[in-house]
Amino acid sequence: MSLLHRVRRHVGHMPQPHTKATLSLSPRITQPGVKSTISVCPYCAVGCSQVVYSIGNEIIDIEGNPDSPINGGTLCPKGAATRGLVQSPLRVTTVKYRPPHGTAWEDRPLDWAMDRIADLVASTRDRTWTHRDAEGRLVNRTLAIGHLGGATLDNEENYLIKKLFTAGLGIVAVENQARI
Ligand code: SF4
Repeated sequence: MSLLHRVRRHVGHMPQPHTKATLSLSPRITQPGVKSTISVCPYCAVGCSQVVYSIGNEIIDIEGNPDSPINGGTLCPKGAATRGLVQSPLRVTTVKYRPPHGTAWEDRPLDWAMDRIADLVASTRDRTWTHRDAEGRLVNRTLAIGHLGGATLDNEENYLIKKLFTAGLGIVAVENQARI
């Protein structure tokens, strides 16, 4: 046995055996008609770069972009599963609403949900608005509404959220999942 062979064996670099079936396979991203598109993982503020492989309107694979200085071709398990965000048959695509004391979820239109959220925010803010605190200091706030953001939000979105909720609506309790 040569020295190189012995070294390879010692460090576990022996050539791997391949079956004929394995050798006959090729990666699906090398099929004819595959288009690759550079994108950004939507899940967290790390912002890993992705290569999205598609045929027509169907995504066939998503991998880390090797040219990215952020992730260098890697993705965490969540980022590697981004395809499911678009194409999973289990994806929830309607607004789910469970009324007070209800025991089942109901499907509602998105416009209905947006109006309901806006109505509840406005009525709660009006009902609980504090112009001055107990010591007479000007506060212009409500302590009855809180906002919790997710780590998928980027700096610009967080800036706008803080501006809207605190400067615009007087909501003090604005937090983010990443700080909890
Ligand atoms: S969820 Fe994972 S792959 Fe996506 S940006 Fe964050 S670390 Fe990167």
